[in-house]
Formats: sequence, C-alpha cells, structure tokens
Amino acid sequence: MAESKRDYYEVLGVPKDADDAALKKAYRALAKKYHPDANPGDKEAEIKFKEASEAYSVLSDPEKRKQYDQFGHAAFDGGAGGAGGFSGYGNFTDMGDIFGDIFGDFFGGGRSYRSGGRSSGPMRGASVRTSVRITFEEAVFGCEKEIEINYKEECSDCHGTGAKPGTSPQTCPKCNGKGKIVYTQDWFLGSMQNVQTCPDCGGTGKVIKEKCPKCYGSGYISTRKKFKVTVPAGIDNGQSIRLAGKGEPGTGGGERGDLLVEVVVSAHPIFKRQNMNIFSTVPISFAKAALGGPIRIKTVDGEVEYDVKAGTQTDTKVRLKGKGVPSLRNRAVRGDHYVTLVVQVPERLNEEQREALRRFDEAMTGNSSDSERHRKKGFFNK
Ligand SMILES: [Zn+2]
Ligand SMILES: [Zn+2]
Repeated sequence: MAESKRDYYEVLGVPKDADDAALKKAYRALAKKYHPDANPGDKEAEIKFKEASEAYSVLSDPEKRKQYDQFGHAAFDGGAGGAGGFSGYGNFTDMGDIFGDIFGDFFGGGRSYRSGGRSSGPMRGASVRTSVRITFEEAVFGCEKEIEINYKEECSDCHGTGAKPGTSPQTCPKCNGKGKIVYTQDWFLGSMQNVQTCPDCGGTGKVIKEKCPKCYGSGYISTRKKFKVTVPAGIDNGQSIRLAGKGEPGTGGGERGDLLVEVVVSAHPIFKRQNMNIFSTVPISFAKAALGGPIRIKTVDGEVEYDVKAGTQTDTKVRLKGKGVPSLRNRAVRGDHYVTLVVQVPERLNEEQREALRRFDEAMTGNSSDSERHRKKGFFNK
C-alpha cells in the first residue's frame, strides 16, 4: 500500500520546501476543483479530492510533515520504522482545523462543508411556539388576545457570556475552540461525516470556569412577559401568527428568533366550519315544511329570516350567501353559510293535535283512520 501511493508533494504539486501558504494555496485549488459537491457522482474526482485532503492533512502539520519527510508513507502505516506515535490515521484530530481554515471562508459560512459551519459568528435565535385559544366567532371576525410567555433575555450581569463578571469564557481545550471534533478513523473509506459537536462545550468552543451567579452560567434570564396578539379575521384552527423578533435571543450579535402563536379554535355548539364556509342544521316543523313560511336562522351575523318553500323535504340544503367566514387576505370576501333543514316528526301529541292529524290523514288518503285500519287487517289476512 505504501509503495502504490503517490508522493504527497506530488499530489499537491508543490516543491519539497513549500511553505504553509503554498501548501494551503495548492490544496485550496485542488479541493475546489475536485470537491464532491462540485463533481457529483464523479468517482475519480472523489479519489483525487481525498488524496489531496490526505496529503494536505499530513504536510500542513509540521510534526507529521517531518515524519513523512523522514519515513515516507511508512511513517503512518503503524508498522516498520514508523515514528511510534502514529498508528494509521486514527489520530488526525486536527482535521477540524483544516476544514475550518480551508472551507470556513470557502463557502462563506452560510453553507458548510460536512464538518459543520463555524459556531462563532452571528446566529439567529430559535423560534418559540405557543398557543392561544379563541372562540368560533373570534376566529371569524378576528380579535386581540394577550398571551404570557417565558421570554429569554441576555443576562445583564455577564452580557450573555455566562461567565462570572470579571472572568471570561475560556477556549475549550477538548476541541481547541472549534466546537466540533473530527473522528477520521474511516478516512480512507471516504467518510467525512464523522464530525461531532464537542461534548465539553456543546459546540460553542468555549468553556466557563466560573459561572455567572445571576444566570447560573446560561447567559440568559427568563421572565414572564405579556404580548398582544392581533388575530386576523378568518383564521382557522391550527394556523399560526408570527410575532417577529419575539423568539429566543440570537448569539454573537444575531437577531432574535420569532414567536409563533398557534390558534386553537373552540368548537361551536351549532356551527361547523370548513375553510371559509359554515354549516349548521335547523329543525323545521312538519307543517312549516308542508305549508312553507318564514323561519329564523342563526348565523355568525345574528339571526336572519328565511322563507321556507312549501313542500320542502327533509335534508334540504339552503345557502345563505356571504354569511360564512371572511378570507384571511381580504375580509370583504366571505364564504357562505349552508343550512340543512331537517323536518321534525312530533314525538308527543295532545288529543287535539292527534285529532287534527287524523283529519289531515283522512284528507290525504280519502279514507277514515278506522277504515284504513280495517283495510290493512284485511290485506294481511288474505
Ligand atoms: Zn449571567
Ligand atoms: Zn469544545
């Protein structure tokens, strides 16, 4: 294996006495050219990229470079003539530095090579979620609500560092302030994803020796704070209202995140809603259905009068135009209210009502109720 490998200087195309700047320049050019993201699916580019990365990782380290100059590739074989300190590439713990140096400015910080972005620099705060419960009518017409949340603010004593005033956070010794640790044991297999957030500093690159007593080292103070939420007309259950800049504070001068208030709409006893339309069921008497006439129907705008047509059947659907929910974008545009008319069959009748119905039945069939009963009996006896 050692014999078949190309010389590291040759790989980078630099002379044996190349200085750090020349090495970096050569590697940057190769890395840019053969970067896997720039050459998707290109195996050869991938191999060249790894080869260059490997060469640079050795030559950019003065001690490894010295050993390589003395023993060649054998220095890292973990075997013959090796410098003892090396056993394969398992201890290339400084790959984080390399990628930080090379790619930190390469991709402008926003997009990070797989080693993850820099943990310093301004970072926007996280968004915070909460919810507010409103009534059906409040959702239809909009409302103002007050909510109270735990609001995180930078600690005034330590100004967000978390360190006791007069002291300052130290560079994390485990990751040398990089916030991440690169495990390169399967470097030759091509895996570059074994980059982990430093467990000692949680990725911040800093550790606090003496914690700020006011915020217990968190850098933040939480207080209960009230905010007014303007709920727009037409909002539906499950939709959220964004309060910009009311989320968690950013770090390193980054702006605050947002507060997302999810709206929970209580069920209404008679109205149901689907998008911009409202649905309800209205009972009408048998006589009203047969004879027709005005009824009162409840809508979100109050009661409206509706003329039932004579001969209306049960489950007839009626549309009350423009009595639905306003559009979130334009409250002048409203959905409709659909009413299902259900004809009620009376359950309890007094004698007078029974008699009226008997007479009605006779008028409909042309027979008396008694003769009707006889006719049925005769039919079944046949
Ligand atoms: Zn503090
Ligand atoms: Zn660390």
